[in-house]
Amino acid sequence: MPSQSGWRPLDMAVVGGGIGGLSAAVALRRAGHKVTIYERADYAGEVGASVSCAANGTKWLREWGVDIPKADPVVLRKLIRRDWKTGEPDSVYDLGDYEEKWGDVYNMFHRQYMHATLMESAVGKDGKGFPAKLIVNHQCSELDTQTGTITFTNGNTASHEVVIGADGIGSAVRGLIGITPERRAADASCLHANVDTAEAVKLGLVDYSQNSALEYWGGLNTHYKIVLSPCNGGSLLSYYCFFPREKGDYSNQNWNAESTVEELLAPFPDLDPQVKAHLSIGKDVRPWRLWVHKPYPWWQKGVVCVIGDAAHPMMPDQSQGACMAIEDAACLGIVFGEKYFNGDISECLQTYERVRMPRATRVQAAAAKARENINERIGFSSNTDSAVYKVSDEMEKLTIEEMNAYDMHADVAKNFCYRFW
Ligand SMILES: Cc1cc2nc3c(=O)[nH]c(=O)nc-3n(C[C@H](O)[C@H](O)[C@H](O)COP(=O)(O)OP(=O)(O)OC[C@H]3O[C@@H](n4cnc5c(N)ncnc54)[C@H](O)[C@@H]3O)c2cc1C
Repeated sequence: MPSQSGWRPLDMAVVGGGIGGLSAAVALRRAGHKVTIYERADYAGEVGASVSCAANGTKWLREWGVDIPKADPVVLRKLIRRDWKTGEPDSVYDLGDYEEKWGDVYNMFHRQYMHATLMESAVGKDGKGFPAKLIVNHQCSELDTQTGTITFTNGNTASHEVVIGADGIGSAVRGLIGITPERRAADASCLHANVDTAEAVKLGLVDYSQNSALEYWGGLNTHYKIVLSPCNGGSLLSYYCFFPREKGDYSNQNWNAESTVEELLAPFPDLDPQVKAHLSIGKDVRPWRLWVHKPYPWWQKGVVCVIGDAAHPMMPDQSQGACMAIEDAACLGIVFGEKYFNGDISECLQTYERVRMPRATRVQAAAAKARENINERIGFSSNTDSAVYKVSDEMEKLTIEEMNAYDMHADVAKNFCYRFW
């Protein structure tokens, strides 16, 4: 298809400079647009934790020229599910041929490093497109969805041709386009802790970093689950510890509220002693609020849209939250690219919504399913030979093929095909 004759560089705002917002800034910069990112915080006090980036996310980082090695990821080799009490593996999904099959690796990043690397791609002077502008300490509070005028809590205002709300699970932009989330606190709570690999090894504990694996204890017909993800080249072990909410309710705590190691260990008296010993030297123990949101009826209005957790917050159990935000950004880059954008902003935002909503909503539902059944998790859902394998509906399960073989360019083309009728 030839370039659209009405294409022009747009003046775009991204509200929120998290993983989704920075990805959108990179994708839209590469597509030739001028982007300003407004972030409410100044990024001080960010806490370390891992973030999964499977091939369906890594693919876009690679296409945008993001310096992935600089973020020092662990390239995952396996998914391992272990018995809760003994730690014996009972389901192992081998990722040995993952890159060969899907064209990209499964990266496990440290959030801050991933963030810094994306930031460099968004605002740095190298690379294709105009460097994005970053304006911190600007919290969006009002928005005119027709004119693109944003008002911030500090009294400043700004107007842009397109406004992208990437302001996370508590999104203000979402409310300003008329959505009131239907949500409930999840039945599970989560505490996160970091363990320094060198310290664990010095104490004679198991060196889990050697496995380059996402490792799970529990998670079968229960809310008890430990998830271990190595990051920072393996020097840091990021532990997500889930338990029934009645054992400790953190649903209204914010991520920066520090908890103690005693609180972390309390729900797990009978856990495999090897991993428990790791948790007992955990640092930066923090609650992660878990809320189940029903899918929203729309994601765009006027010249505004939402992406990432602002559009489709999900349970963490498919490790796809960041990847879905990256895919949203990629979709915006495509629909506003020279191939499709002809000057009609609202047509592009509607196409973005049509392309992204079915896929992200399906992952959102699958993440909720995987909360209590690890066999529903992408990867394990293909491990049909495992003795513990059982899914609720073989035909409906989310598979690694569906996630990684997806062709977004074809999907966008299909959604623009009415132009030729
Ligand atoms: C501890 C933790 C671990 C996680 N681990 C994983 C994982 O392993 N794999 C995975 O795929 N996903 C993971 N997730 C989820 C994943 O990080 C999110 O799905 C993903 O970051 C979504 O990105 P986002 O940009 O939409 O939102 P966020 O990353 O939440 O970013 C939103 C940004 O908007 C800013 N903001 C908020 N309100 C305003 C406002 N009114 N005005 C201006 N700025 C505003 C915030 O300060 C923030 O910088 C994890 C999340 C957490 C908290």
